[in-house]
Amino acid sequence: MKKLIFATGNENKMKEIRMILADCGYEILSMKEAGIQADIVEDGKTFEENAIIKAEAIRKMTNCLVLADDSGLEVDYLDKAPGIYSARFMGEDTSYRIKNKAIIDKLAGVPDEKRTARFVCAIAAAFPDGKTITRRGTIEGIIGYEERGENGFGYDPIFFLPEYGKSTAELSPEEKNTISHRGNALRLIKEVINENTDN
Ligand code: IMP
Repeated sequence: MKKLIFATGNENKMKEIRMILADCGYEILSMKEAGIQADIVEDGKTFEENAIIKAEAIRKMTNCLVLADDSGLEVDYLDKAPGIYSARFMGEDTSYRIKNKAIIDKLAGVPDEKRTARFVCAIAAAFPDGKTITRRGTIEGIIGYEERGENGFGYDPIFFLPEYGKSTAELSPEEKNTISHRGNALRLIKEVINENTDN
C-alpha cells in the first residue's frame, strides 16, 4: 500500500486523521512511525505557508505523499491575533489558563457582536510529483467572558459556539471533530487526495 505521512508529532491529531482518511487507500504514518525527525522552522506569514513549508520539507526527505497542518485562533477585535502565533502567544511555555485570561481581559467591555473569532486550519498535501495543494477549514464562534469546559486543549475553553450554547471545551471529542476547523480541512484535503491518486 502507498504511504501517506502526516507531519505531526501530536497523537490526538493522528487519531482524528486516521479516522477521517481511513478509506483513502494509503497507509497512514506519523513522523515517528515513518522514522523521521526534523526540526522545521515555520517562518511563513500565513497558515497555508507554514503548512506548505512543513509538508514540502518532509516530502523532500521521503518522496511519499506528505500532509502537514497549521492552525490557530483569529480574534477579530484583536486584528486577527494571535493567528499564526497562537502557540507562541505570550510564550510557548505560558499556560493556556494565563493566555485565555489575557484574551478575555483584552476584550473587557466589548459586546457580543464584536467578539467574533474563528479557529483556522490549513492543510497542505505535498505529492511525490512535486505538486502541493492546500485547503483551509474554519469554525466560527465568539470569545466568551470566562473559561468553560474541560475537554479539548488550548483556547477551547474561551471559544463559544452560540448555536450550541457551549464552548468547544464542552463538546465531546467526536462532536468537536464533526464541526472543527481541522475536521473540515481534513475532509476537504481528502477530496484533493482522491482526485490526485490513481487507483
Ligand atoms: P498547531 O497547528 O498544532 O501548531 O496549533 C497551533 C495552536 O493553535 C495551538 O497550540 C493552539 O494554541 C491553537 N489551536 C489550534 N487548534 C485549536 C483547537 O482546536 N482548540 C484550541 N486551540 C487550538
